[in-house]
Amino acid sequence: MFEALGQKFSNLFSGLRGKVSADDLKKFADEIKNALLESDVALSVAENFADQILKIADERTEEINRSTNPAQKIFEIVNAQLTQTLGGSARRLRFAKTGPTIILLTGLQGAGKTSLAGKLAKYLKDQGNTPILVASDLQRPNAVTQLQVVGDSIKVPVFAPEPGNGVGDPVAVAKAGVQFAKDKVHNFVIVDTAGRLGVDQELMQQAIKVRDAISPDEIFFVVDAMIGQDAVKTAQAFSDGVGFDAVVLTKLDGDARGGAALSIVELTGKPIIFAATGEKVGDFDLFYPDRMASRILGMGDVASLAEQAKKAMSSDTAAKLEEKFISGEEFTFTDFLSQLEAMKNMGSMSKLMGLLPGAGQIKKQIENFDEGELVRTRAIIESMTPLERNNPKVLNGSRRARISRGSGRAISEINSLVERFSQAQKVMKQMRSGAMPNLPGMAGLTGMAGLPGMAGMSGMPKISKNNPPPKKKSRSGNPAKRAAEDGA
Ligand code: GDP
Repeated sequence: MFEALGQKFSNLFSGLRGKVSADDLKKFADEIKNALLESDVALSVAENFADQILKIADERTEEINRSTNPAQKIFEIVNAQLTQTLGGSARRLRFAKTGPTIILLTGLQGAGKTSLAGKLAKYLKDQGNTPILVASDLQRPNAVTQLQVVGDSIKVPVFAPEPGNGVGDPVAVAKAGVQFAKDKVHNFVIVDTAGRLGVDQELMQQAIKVRDAISPDEIFFVVDAMIGQDAVKTAQAFSDGVGFDAVVLTKLDGDARGGAALSIVELTGKPIIFAATGEKVGDFDLFYPDRMASRILGMGDVASLAEQAKKAMSSDTAAKLEEKFISGEEFTFTDFLSQLEAMKNMGSMSKLMGLLPGAGQIKKQIENFDEGELVRTRAIIESMTPLERNNPKVLNGSRRARISRGSGRAISEINSLVERFSQAQKVMKQMRSGAMPNLPGMAGLTGMAGLPGMAGMSGMPKISKNNPPPKKKSRSGNPAKRAAEDGA
């Protein structure tokens, strides 16, 4: 998602060299407008965005040209404006003053409401809340069962007195569900409602009736980011009809051009609160406009990556690794194994790699990443004795042959892992001494040294068979990349 737009921005910045004239700025703003339009951003939003960039850059031309790096200054302006267009600061959930916080989910059928109900419930439960799900989508075949299945899987109760599939009154169910939550002292109620394939009056009337019956604290409009320009029309219809407080974007993992996200915020004036990035119940997070802007501009989303790493690794293991790192102790295969364990908990490796600065540049490698490699690497390490894991120097030929037999992997794979591991140890030493390791796609990770789960990421299995060898580090001509290189 947003890769195409990111690529276009990246090309645009590469074209900026030296001092800029009013004409250069005008041309740059026009190109930005075109890049946005090609990414499905609505015309008025694209024009407004480009106008703002031009206005700010015009006002600050002198300052821009005085700077040693004018392109970098313009990059900062675009970054700030993009963050603004995406909603400024992250919107937090509003809690009810008394009683349970009632959240109503609306949106078209297939937008991802039912899945989202589960994701949101898990997110709230993980933070110590006691949510309950209410099955008021009595229209879509199997919606009630789907909610029950997801509720069971995350151990969140589901209020579902009606079988659905066209049977039952959704307004009565919503009302009874909220009452049930009050009686049982749940602090969150998430009400899933029916959608239609397109916006229609009956759907809107039903949503309005449910809304009036339960007076929600939050109404979320759930929208599939893949539907492109249509998302804006649908959002407008829901905004005029039932009304909503915030938007939830789903399917951000798809390869849609993503313009909808930018347009919806600007045209409805409502912020995006959450984003779903996959079918699994954990593929969900708060939406951070600054982090999204940073990803679009090719600077990655290191903050999210670090958060996920923190979540995936027990604080004990993380603290031990950090201590080791700081004290200068040697990084061992035992440490590496606990990192692999954490990586497994973090989910798909390619998705995580997409958060790295410069991910756009290693897109192919990310797509080709062989998730099975982690499993094979584990098998090799698990076939080592504790002595070998903690002191890889003892790994002579006969030990390697034994490990190869034990893990069912070729000797060449064992050799390659040991080789990459010793390189990782060297990189760790470099990082400890403050030097930047020369790794492709890893520029800008200096600040991450010492982060739990991130130490020794270079020891990861190779990205793909075609992964180019590390290049000598040079400063990029592209401000997006350069900012990442500078650790900005
Ligand atoms: P509803 O009709 O609005 O309740 O939609 P569902 O929750 O049933 O979702 C429709 C389909 O989209 C299902 O197959 C979901 O698994 C899928 N889905 C939902 N959210 C996401 C997401 O963020 N990413 C991806 N790839 N698929 C999703």
